[in-house]
Amino acid sequence: MIIVLRADATEADLEHLVARIERVGLKAHVSRGTQRTIVGVVGDEDVIRSEPLDRLPGVERAMQVLRPYKLASLEFHPDPSVVEVKGVRIGHGTVTVVAGPCTVEGEAMLTDIAAAVKAGGAAALRGGAFKPRTSPYSFQGLGEEGLKLLRAASDLTGLPVITEVMDTRQVPLVCEYADVLQVGARNMQNFNLLTEAGQTGKPVLLKRGMAASVTEWLMSAEYVLSQSASPVILCERGIKTFEDGTRFTLDLSAVPAVQALSHLPVIVDPSHATGHSHLVAPMALAAIAAGADGIMVEVHAAPAEARCDGQQALVPTAFAAMVDQIHGLAKLLGKEMAAPTTDD
Ligand code: PEP
Ligand code: MN
Repeated sequence: MIIVLRADATEADLEHLVARIERVGLKAHVSRGTQRTIVGVVGDEDVIRSEPLDRLPGVERAMQVLRPYKLASLEFHPDPSVVEVKGVRIGHGTVTVVAGPCTVEGEAMLTDIAAAVKAGGAAALRGGAFKPRTSPYSFQGLGEEGLKLLRAASDLTGLPVITEVMDTRQVPLVCEYADVLQVGARNMQNFNLLTEAGQTGKPVLLKRGMAASVTEWLMSAEYVLSQSASPVILCERGIKTFEDGTRFTLDLSAVPAVQALSHLPVIVDPSHATGHSHLVAPMALAAIAAGADGIMVEVHAAPAEARCDGQQALVPTAFAAMVDQIHGLAKLLGKEMAAPTTDD
């Protein structure tokens, strides 16, 4: 349920309303917009549905929300939200480029790529330490050693670091090193993981499941947001279709579709979506043109030797050329390019 306050509602009206909601065991989510204050009711609304809340002082109207997600919805939060990570903005009016290797393979490799992506215009560093591999015999990542290397590369470059957490048991460890927790496509509906990640206070980058609808994706975001600690950044990374010329099918229409439903920032990963390096830049540009708040791409200095996903990795020069084009597009769209605050 959403309760819209009148423009002349007082603080006392708001407090009274919140107390009324909390009295029956529900949570009140207050969103102060430029014009109006909106109060979202979170919890099992059956206990309050029959109450005439629109008769309370300061209340203009009370509306049922038909969609199953609430905190993720535009109704609850009519202004697009911006997530700030160590001074790097992700969301509304900004284009944020996240780049790095698929997997952390070693210190020299990571330090070189981190420096290269920073020079090429990345605002944040990505890299996997715990890898969700289809085969149990494939390289699974360096684990904690990889996290340490990511932290060191982040400290060296000033780029905040985004890395995947695959399991609830890894959450405290990954939190020690990461600035943003990535929940991968394969875990999008791991509700225990979403709940645990949502309690950390670290932003959660939530990738879309490869067979998940936009509604299911937003419901997963709702799991994180319902813990009231961590903001969410959505990441479209392609879905399964009959097409096998690309690794997945990049659903770019999901970007404006999500933006019509949700205030959450949405970025696009054209690397995993396409699976081919020559398709990455065109789809990254298309994503920004479609209104995405940023992109996340894989970069490797020697893709032929990469331990994971080499076929889709951009070399640093191709990455920098792509970011140059994104700059032009951002300008055309009246958006700023995100940049790290520290410059060492
Ligand atoms: C990744 O970004 O490292 C990754 C494994 O992506 P996804 O979960 O989208 O497959
Ligand atoms: Mn990868």
